[in-house]
Amino acid sequence: GDFPIELDTLVVGSGPGGYVAAIRAAQTGQKVTIVEKGAIGGVCLNVGCIPSKALIEAGHRAEHAQGDDELGIKTENVSVDFSKVQEWKGSVVNKLTSGVEGLLKGNKVDIVGGEVYFVDKNTVKVMDEKNSQTYTFKNCIIATGSHPIELPTFKYSDRVLDSTGALNLKEVPKKLVVIGGGYVGTELGSAYANFGTEVTILEGLKDILGGFEKQMSALVKKKLKSKGATIVTEAMAQGVEETKDGVKVTYEAKGKKETVEADYVLVTVGRKPNTDELGLEQVGIEMDDKGLVKIDEQCRTNVDNIFAIGDIVDGPPLAHKASYEGKIAAEAIAGENAVIDYNAIPAVVFSDPELATVGYSEEGAKEAGYDVKASKFPFAANGRALSLNASDGFMKLITRKEDGLIVGAQIAGPNASDMISELGLAIEAGMTAEDLALTIHAHPTLGEITMEAAEVAMGTPIHIV
Ligand code: FAD
Repeated sequence: GDFPIELDTLVVGSGPGGYVAAIRAAQTGQKVTIVEKGAIGGVCLNVGCIPSKALIEAGHRAEHAQGDDELGIKTENVSVDFSKVQEWKGSVVNKLTSGVEGLLKGNKVDIVGGEVYFVDKNTVKVMDEKNSQTYTFKNCIIATGSHPIELPTFKYSDRVLDSTGALNLKEVPKKLVVIGGGYVGTELGSAYANFGTEVTILEGLKDILGGFEKQMSALVKKKLKSKGATIVTEAMAQGVEETKDGVKVTYEAKGKKETVEADYVLVTVGRKPNTDELGLEQVGIEMDDKGLVKIDEQCRTNVDNIFAIGDIVDGPPLAHKASYEGKIAAEAIAGENAVIDYNAIPAVVFSDPELATVGYSEEGAKEAGYDVKASKFPFAANGRALSLNASDGFMKLITRKEDGLIVGAQIAGPNASDMISELGLAIEAGMTAEDLALTIHAHPTLGEITMEAAEVAMGTPIHIV
């Protein structure tokens, strides 16, 4: 018989939301069980952030290996064994996923394999191939993540790929069409372009990387084009015909119907929250029309013992945001006074060059009613950037006019992904441009760009006039 097993805190899903929530809950003294139907680590570790960054790095190495005339570096007979690239990528994923499993066990979190289905506000069924087991719980954190949207005219197959398919190719395609110039399409498109693939990006809107300022995405476009990529904007993808060894993609641009042939087509047009097969309606959990679960400032749903975090709630669908919410939810269950503050969630595109933003953009700050000023400093005026032969880029610091309070920053350039952390800290700590300007940054480093952008805000930059 199916005798219910009693649990204290149940976490559903082991992505960066769920596993972090489970560990934090355990740290506060809760007895935690985490249920995962797939692989520990969720999208992020298995088929998202981590493998994509590994592939991007391998692409950079392959591109650098071609040599550089300007630097006097000549190379011959460079070749890529893509099966080795994939093997290495897999080893990175394995290290991290087994690391997370070790962390869960080390924190005495029970790990259960299976798919969760809600019966009522204190009961779930967990199903695997063979069994169904009922569990009752006091509190629950749902972190079931999201999956790629499938276009009706582009059914996924061996040739019509979602991001997971594109990450796991066995060969470097000669030609690749990417539908959707968001960050996933741009990152994977750039990575394959670096391996020598002829990439065509079809974007429906006026520009790729819509969430970023034009001056930032322009740098990425320039670099992509220099690698031989074609970017078609305001292009409506219409359909795909699979041939024996490839695809023919049709699209409409400027009122004309076009066809482009390739080995594969990658479709990255957004993701959908995994909230429709969980039985949430059985519990009366409120969702919006996109299927996102509604939560309060502690990640609590309208059902007071059930919390929701990560890609299934509103806000940028990013791993660090999921983890942040996971900690808040776990602490809220422990009775702590934690509340979410979305002021400074960084967003990064690991393109070439990297793009990063945190807090307000200049326009966003103005819309929010701040009287702000934008201060720019170019990578080209920084010694370290020049010695990296990477002078394309800039930092833009957004400060409140009355007192110099930092409310946002945007960076386009090498290592923007790491540099943005200092600006996030500045916003969190309520710092002003003067605080950044007075912080001694090591020379020569890209970090000096931050100090100099703050000096621009103060009207006293040293390295530009
Ligand atoms: P997920 O990571 O999706 O995990 C949810 C887990 O729940 C899954 O393991 C799933 O199997 C499990 N689950 C679902 N339903 C059930 C059920 N009924 N019962 C039991 N288990 C269930 N974000 C970044 O911040 N930086 C990046 O560089 C980045 N790169 C990305 C690249 C790609 C190609 C993709 C696709 C995404 C990327 N993301 C990145 C986004 C990031 O992966 C997600 O925001 C993040 O994984 C969301 O975490 P989560 O915990 O909400 O859910």
